[in-house]
Amino acid sequence: MKGFWGRLLEVDLATGAAHVLEIPEKAYRMFLGGRGLATYLLAKKYGEKWRLLDPLSPENPLMLLTGPLTGYYPGVKLSVTGKSPQSNSVVGSVVSSEVAVELKASGFDGLVLKGGCEKPCYIYVENGRVHLRDASDIWGLGGLKLIKKFHSLLKEDVNGEPGTPFVYIGPAGENRVRTAAVMSKLAHAAGYGGYGAVMGVKKVKAIAVKGYGSLPSIYDPESLSSLFRSTLRNVRERMKRFRQWGTTEGTWYTGYYLSSMPVRNWQEEWHDVKNFSHVGFELETWVKNPWADWGCPVACMKLSLVKREGEVYVTDNPDYEMAAYLGSNLGVFNPKETVLLSSLADELGLCGIQTGNVMGFAIELYEKGVLTRDEVGYELKWGDVECLARLMRDIAYRRGIGEVLAEGTYRAARILSEQKGVDLTRYAVQVKGIAVGAHGVRSRRDYPQPISYALSAQGGDHTSVAGFPVDSTESETWYAILDSGVVCMFTVLDDKGLLEYLNIITGWGLNLNEFYSIGRRIITLQRLLLSLGGPDAEWGVKDDDNPPRFYEPLPTGPYRGSSIGRDEVEELKKKYYAEIGWDERGIPTEETLRALGLGEFAPLLNQVRE
Ligand code: SF4
Repeated sequence: MKGFWGRLLEVDLATGAAHVLEIPEKAYRMFLGGRGLATYLLAKKYGEKWRLLDPLSPENPLMLLTGPLTGYYPGVKLSVTGKSPQSNSVVGSVVSSEVAVELKASGFDGLVLKGGCEKPCYIYVENGRVHLRDASDIWGLGGLKLIKKFHSLLKEDVNGEPGTPFVYIGPAGENRVRTAAVMSKLAHAAGYGGYGAVMGVKKVKAIAVKGYGSLPSIYDPESLSSLFRSTLRNVRERMKRFRQWGTTEGTWYTGYYLSSMPVRNWQEEWHDVKNFSHVGFELETWVKNPWADWGCPVACMKLSLVKREGEVYVTDNPDYEMAAYLGSNLGVFNPKETVLLSSLADELGLCGIQTGNVMGFAIELYEKGVLTRDEVGYELKWGDVECLARLMRDIAYRRGIGEVLAEGTYRAARILSEQKGVDLTRYAVQVKGIAVGAHGVRSRRDYPQPISYALSAQGGDHTSVAGFPVDSTESETWYAILDSGVVCMFTVLDDKGLLEYLNIITGWGLNLNEFYSIGRRIITLQRLLLSLGGPDAEWGVKDDDNPPRFYEPLPTGPYRGSSIGRDEVEELKKKYYAEIGWDERGIPTEETLRALGLGEFAPLLNQVRE
């Protein structure tokens, strides 16, 4: 086996015992690692019991996985998965974290946490040896305070090396908020999926990993050495502009030119506030540029800092998604205030996309008189950073109205609809429990296609969109490969280059068709689990749809009047189902399962069809 160790380290949190899970090479060939391998292992383990598995129970395993490209490809990502408390399926979430490389240097392809601790704990994996320690002293902390204290705790407790990488949760994860993220390096988050809440349920505050060994051997080291150098050169050259601005450039480009940026809970998708742009952020807030993750020649990150009333707020860029969701979507068009909210989300351990989405939903309800001051306890106003910060804290601590909003947009809409006796789901801009990423489809200028979110195996995830052609970088087959590889999408220039890399590492000699079949296999199995869902939400063919808001014409901007049509979406749905081998209800056919080597999961089809 080349490029992998063929084993995962499984820790039973109830006892602290660790044991090795052997993974056959065939599983890697079929699913790579990361998102794909997690989906396979979860489907195999739970099968017909999937519907009964409560994502917010200790029983739900949390998986931190690497892929064949970890450590060998420029840049670094760690895959974080399990059963998602948002979609009730597997969401492949990734975060920039050197934990991935340390895991591989420990002789393992990943770490699986099963069960839960009785009291707050943290985990230190030292070259494959597991230490499970008391985390009472750091429970309740978030952001900077946690980072400082955890490093000294690690030193005192287990003689951990300074700078040992770790992932962690903030107060939101501890409070099982469904929009909580697994955090890394102060401002990085595995946000999609809600796995911060899964860590909180398990009472695991942090996971640190240090490995002293080598990476697994590879098939063709000489070719890799020259390919690595040329990839570094090409990526650095092609991504020059991206290095300068990162995704923050979208704050102006996507908002003004493409008109596909959420504004006030997606009531609009356009703004013309010149200062609310990459230039505005750079001039007013950036104190460091560039900042890179491990081994990355692009270095797209920046560090922002603002001071307000004696408090210091630090975050990364913020990237485009944060600027959109904690800026324009909340009616904030001021770089400093967006940095403040972004820093607060980091501090509390919240996913900025999911949380900014549910906050926008709440403010619109308040604006329409559905939520009242008596219920909320204060006024909710677009662009009012004081009330927005208060609302965000209430969500993280599940206080007042925050208790409902902590369930995320989909569930909050269901709960409030029931309480109010009116259908409020039309204001919920989400798909299958996942708030949509900050790229709209109505102007038709941005990269998502009209069915991108409606048919994604990861709901509204903008980093895993469905589309045509099915086997191309335009579609979810590609994103599934990136998340299973496990590699940063900004450092990959094309599919052929990535395939060459994979073949040099593994020696598999795959062609492009076989390469994309891996992506099809992963999303087909994810789709099966998504269709099973449970226990509190299940998705059928009617849920393969856009949020109702996306059918309303854009009210402002250069694409005023533009929208997408329901008939058009229905036609594209049929076409997508047919091309990917799913039936007219969007259920993978038995023939498709068998053709993809997933025949062992065919018995699940009966349950899905019920
Ligand atoms: S491109 Fe940006 S996000 Fe990706 S690894 Fe490099 S620094 Fe990190």
